Amino acid sequence: MRTLIENALVWDAEHAERRAADVLVDGQRIAKISEQRGALREQTGDVGRYVDGSDCTLMPGLVEGHCHLSFTGISSNAEIGNIPPEDHVLASAANATLLLRHGFTSAFSAASARMRIDVALRNAINAGQLVGPRLRAAGPELTVTGGLGDERQMHQDRTGFGLVADGPLAMRQAARTCVREGVDNLKINISGDQFVPHALGEQTPLCVDELEAFVEIARKYGKTTVAHARSSESVKLAVRAGIDCIYHCDYADSEALDMLEANRDKLFVGPAFGLLHNTLLEHDKFGVPAEVVERMNMQRKFESCVATYRELRRRGVRIVVGGDYGFSLTPMGTNARDIAHFVNFFGFAPVEALHSATCVGADLMGLRHELGLVREGFLADLLLVEGDPTEDVRLLQQQSNLRMVMKEGIVYF
Ligand SMILES: [Zn+2]
Repeated sequence: MRTLIENALVWDAEHAERRAADVLVDGQRIAKISEQRGALREQTGDVGRYVDGSDCTLMPGLVEGHCHLSFTGISSNAEIGNIPPEDHVLASAANATLLLRHGFTSAFSAASARMRIDVALRNAINAGQLVGPRLRAAGPELTVTGGLGDERQMHQDRTGFGLVADGPLAMRQAARTCVREGVDNLKINISGDQFVPHALGEQTPLCVDELEAFVEIARKYGKTTVAHARSSESVKLAVRAGIDCIYHCDYADSEALDMLEANRDKLFVGPAFGLLHNTLLEHDKFGVPAEVVERMNMQRKFESCVATYRELRRRGVRIVVGGDYGFSLTPMGTNARDIAHFVNFFGFAPVEALHSATCVGADLMGLRHELGLVREGFLADLLLVEGDPTEDVRLLQQQSNLRMVMKEGIVYF
């Protein structure tokens, strides 16, 4: 199947400016780009499908860099365990379709609520049985007793969704279990979080030998490692251990920032800002009482996160878009809001934020040589957006502005 997209202005994620060009897609890939309007139509004969891109921007598909497809409108981690598995799988599959519909053609998972949900979704998407983004699947978060993901003290009948593994031996076994079940990304919680009473965000329950055992197994099998790390100590542990993608980093001190910068060609960071943003600034809308927000000291976390990412941007560290969407506070499908947050809070130019959401995301997916740009030979993950998102990235938040969502040459929406 060939598709000719005509009359659009192309933003290729390599240059700041859009340019007038027609784009021919053949099979899964971008075959030809011509700046001479109409030339491709003359050269190629009947291609089967013509898409009119008048008044639109043609750009690479978005990459969700901190994805939880199995977070199906939950209000806490602990709630996940109470969803019957049958309902949970279907709701997660619906999330996959929803995300693609909103322009995210790739998703990099930062944890699955159950061991095999991501894996099953990825396999079904790859087999053409389920409409969804290209997915790098994660397993559950690996954690230690009392750490984030093991919230038994708070809700005695609930366990959270982490896989608890204390000590290097148990950690190796847990990591190997994820490998056996077919995950791509291995996730570990190094720091705690504000809502875990015995493991706050600035505490670091995980020990070095546990982290090293985790990374050792991931390396043996060529898996990608991702970590939850809010405390400064947890960021340093993550860098030293060679974690591939370090999330949050809110409380990173100057030594931690230096370490991230020194290793910027090896690692990615992601703020997962959407949840923090909505908890602090929009909790009213979602019925979360102000006292709860205050008790969790969200203002301080927010300010720390903003300061950290302004600094990481300045230092040229690769920052991925993705905001912990899937909680009741962060409905799946609103993920593109994070791109605007990069502009509004972290000092990104609009084009720079789009670059994070496309090109940097493709790099995170492990596909930098064939994804994330509008370039001949690259995979045809393309969005046709009404208006100019390089001027106003908020256009991407409205699904109705997406005239076309194409993944690997197939038009889905
Ligand atoms: Zn997350």
